[in-house]
Amino acid sequence: MKLLVIGSGGREHAIVWKLAQSSHVTRMWCAPGNAGIAEEHLASNHTPIECVNLGAEDLPGLLAFAQEERIDLTVVGPDNPLALGISDLFQTNGLRIWGPNQKAAQFESSKAFSQDFMERHGIPTARAGMFEDAARAKNFAATLGGHCAVKADGLALGKGVLICATFTEAEKAIDEILIGRTFGSAGSRIVIQEFLEGMEISLHALCDGKTAKLFPTAQDHKRALDGDQGLNTGGMGTYSPAPFLSDAQLIETGAKILEPWLKGCAADGIDFRGLLYPGVMLTRNGPKVIEFNARFGDPEAQVYLTRLENDLVELLSASVDGTLDKVEMRWSSKSSVCVVMASGGYPGTYAKGKPISGLPKASRLSDTKIFHAGTARAGDQIMTNGGRVLGVTAWASDLPAARAKAYEAVECIRFEGAQYRRDIAAKALR
Ligand code: AMP
Repeated sequence: MKLLVIGSGGREHAIVWKLAQSSHVTRMWCAPGNAGIAEEHLASNHTPIECVNLGAEDLPGLLAFAQEERIDLTVVGPDNPLALGISDLFQTNGLRIWGPNQKAAQFESSKAFSQDFMERHGIPTARAGMFEDAARAKNFAATLGGHCAVKADGLALGKGVLICATFTEAEKAIDEILIGRTFGSAGSRIVIQEFLEGMEISLHALCDGKTAKLFPTAQDHKRALDGDQGLNTGGMGTYSPAPFLSDAQLIETGAKILEPWLKGCAADGIDFRGLLYPGVMLTRNGPKVIEFNARFGDPEAQVYLTRLENDLVELLSASVDGTLDKVEMRWSSKSSVCVVMASGGYPGTYAKGKPISGLPKASRLSDTKIFHAGTARAGDQIMTNGGRVLGVTAWASDLPAARAKAYEAVECIRFEGAQYRRDIAAKALR
């Protein structure tokens, strides 16, 4: 099979790495990819993965490439091309593609769509309201005592959520998004949710339109600094499994979310074939969904795909073909930890083009994989080329050992201004 993977981050490197292990693949491209992806080879015939200089949002360019190379399966990593309708475009042109169509991708591209869906179909979520009018929004925020999350409806690079502790903060957040348009047209509508207290975890489920197969638990670390301080980021590290749910509780939680979700999709005519990633708060009153994403988490993919034992080509094909009910997902009992190394200043402004040293030494460590995110090659040298630079991932029989190995690899790697959290997975060990 000839595969095309779309995207350039750590998630896409993890997807490419896992797909490359499949005996079904004879050739693979990644658009646009990164320096780490360009170093991967297929297990079946040792052919290198080829990076193609096409952006993830260049839908006409990607379609033309897939047609020209007669790609058998295209795998979409990020949310933007899904929201732009890449799956619909490829399907209309007779090409197989993994990732939800535009209607189904609304679970991520519109927070108002998701909130309305959850309320209509009985999925546990926060008390919430949706508004286009600032005065009404403020009245609702007042009923929550101002303690709330104010969210831009549309895609805002993961930055469209403002957490407020007081009514004054909520008023300011509402004005910034609805009137000041800090997030552009993504903020022409907002969702205000009551603030939920609890432990936040990531769930993932692979779906084929009728069946949803739940993954084990994982936990991300969204804030930039140790102790969950600093600004929100795309994610500074993950680990799996997270010990806050027993196996039985995970099944129960998954059922509470996925059963009404599947019924709701059927009732609303939504054919979701791809990955559903609910962000869940474990509150005193039970688990509640705070948002849905419609693709693999980044850096959740890095820990999940280093634990997955199935052939990923077979799983994604079953998701596209509607045959997931015939597949059993198998997970290693090992724990996996991913520590993100970021450019100094991230998630604010940061410099690019810093040489990275120590990668060969780190890569030689056993049960360790250095997934690249924002990297580029200049001659023989790998340079930083983004905010999140590397996802240093290691696995072992238990979480403390996996964590120690991940940090051992981090210690081998150097670049000017490198920043990373030193407390990834620490909550689980308390
Ligand atoms: P979202 O993009 O909706 O996942 O929000 C980004 C982050 O804001 C989440 O990962 C949570 O840490 C936090 N957050 C969002 N909604 C709520 C809520 N209702 N209560 C508490 N924290 C929230």
